[in-house]
Amino acid sequence: MLSHLNTFFPRQSNFRIQYNFSKMFCFQCEQTMDGKGCTVKGKCGKSAEVSALQDLLVAQLKHLNSIVHHAKENDVKPVTTYSDHFNLEGLFATLTNVNFDEKRFQKYLEKGEKLIEFYLKNGGEKLKSVLHENGIQTADFSYSKPLKDLIKTGKEYQLDLTEEKRPVIFTKELIMYGLKGGAAYLDHARLLGYEDTSLYHYLSESLQKLSLPVSEFTLESLLEFALQTGNWNLSCMELLNRANTESYGHPEITTVSTTPVDGKCILVSGHDLRDLKLLLEQTEGKGVNVYTHGEMLPGNAYPELKKYSHLKGNYGGAWQDQVKEFSKFPGPILMTTNCLIPPPKNYSKRVFTRSSVGFSNLKHIENDDFSEIIKMAKKQKGFKNTKKLALKDIIVGFGMNQTLALADLIIDAVKEGAIKHFFLIGGCDGAEKERNYFEKLAEKTPKDTVILTLACGKYRFNKKDLGVIEFKGNKIPRVLDVGQCNDAYSAIQIALALANAFDTDVNSLPLSFAVSWFEQKAVSILLTLLHLGIKNIFLGPALPAFLEPSVLDVLVKLFGIRPIGDVDEDLKLMLKK
Ligand code: SF4
Ligand code: SF4
Repeated sequence: MLSHLNTFFPRQSNFRIQYNFSKMFCFQCEQTMDGKGCTVKGKCGKSAEVSALQDLLVAQLKHLNSIVHHAKENDVKPVTTYSDHFNLEGLFATLTNVNFDEKRFQKYLEKGEKLIEFYLKNGGEKLKSVLHENGIQTADFSYSKPLKDLIKTGKEYQLDLTEEKRPVIFTKELIMYGLKGGAAYLDHARLLGYEDTSLYHYLSESLQKLSLPVSEFTLESLLEFALQTGNWNLSCMELLNRANTESYGHPEITTVSTTPVDGKCILVSGHDLRDLKLLLEQTEGKGVNVYTHGEMLPGNAYPELKKYSHLKGNYGGAWQDQVKEFSKFPGPILMTTNCLIPPPKNYSKRVFTRSSVGFSNLKHIENDDFSEIIKMAKKQKGFKNTKKLALKDIIVGFGMNQTLALADLIIDAVKEGAIKHFFLIGGCDGAEKERNYFEKLAEKTPKDTVILTLACGKYRFNKKDLGVIEFKGNKIPRVLDVGQCNDAYSAIQIALALANAFDTDVNSLPLSFAVSWFEQKAVSILLTLLHLGIKNIFLGPALPAFLEPSVLDVLVKLFGIRPIGDVDEDLKLMLKK
């Protein structure tokens, strides 16, 4: 597919960054220390011990899926879905700002060991001899031990940064992070009862492939693998889109209040719409209001969620502001997925975690019973004297169905020159001041342009009055909120529909992409955009530390990917399209 790639890859890397990784090494997210890697403690708050346990869990997942691969090839029965589910929960727990709890990782490792033993038992001597031939360990595992021993073993799995191996090792990591992101989306879909064995198969086979030594890969083969992973992630997002919309209806244009009302309250953050639904069901008629936070904001637009009158709107903004916002929230907080900041003592007793999220001493809700959190809400102060507050509303609900219902109007507006350009400005948010770029860019976009936005990066500008485009008696909002990060699927469908309407391709549309990335779901979305051949993406605030220069060089040459720079200069370039 990409045989022309070999013309781009230099044979020698000029990568000369010096690493000190005596305690830990992690560079999977944008906030990584000095743009190189966290080596003592994670900037996210992850300890060196948790980092080691995560490294060991990822190594175990590769080991397990190598065994599964050979078991399938040798027709060992039964091959179960347990390991597929374990792949999802294990990978999800290693995403940035998800799980900081050593004991939870110990439990994951014990579970993984049981799965390995299950396959070995069912495969018998036949499977063992195949595994031996392939150099795969079949005895004396290190996954079920006291914590301190697990941490010690985990340190042995720190990334190998031997200079000559870096280009391949780093690109394998790029793929691993893409897989982590897609696994998170598959896990959300699974919880709603939507599963696809072919997507599980790809994940399992990819984990197996990533267990192979560096010598098995070339940069060309890895880039092809990365783009295939982008394709796979598109299907993961499509499955989740189907799961969400078939469960809760298609998002509708909805004005969301950000002004709280008097009364007892619970805040729900993260991305899991199913948890929001369960909480709304269980709080109905109990005198407790529910508010969304962060990436849960789009939940207000789904018919089956917005129908609850005690869903009172959204409180606060993006994840990085949670310490300030959670401290002030007068009720308990349910953290369904990322991004969790280690909570300080002043509110940690009010935080409950779900699914893969974990932090020692926070209450984790395993089953679907939220009675404890509701009980706490009733004991907390709740909001009082809110009448004097009058905060700005947010308009959400421009998922693909809703936006495509307006397609004729939008296409007419483009043809008659009322809309001159589209921007996709979105992705993750974060604390760095450089992320102001996305806010300034949105503010500076001309008045006859439309901004599609998604994920928590939208909080940079979703309360600003960027106006409407008046066209034939209609007012088209200039900012269309497509939804959560996984709703990149919706944004892609909107772009494809526009391209189709103008009988062209996405790259030829007057459409520019400015993507803010933070963690591994954003990596998987970036791989999806590249798989679709989308060019000239402006990426920031910093480029990923795991993009080795020779690989970045190829991405620049093939896809025109570029770091964000000066807002005015970039805007000029974008509008040249
Ligand atoms: S997840 Fe990000 S901040 Fe946390 S340790 Fe890894 S690179 Fe550092
Ligand atoms: S969009 Fe990204 S940064 Fe924002 S809450 Fe979700 S995972 Fe975290």
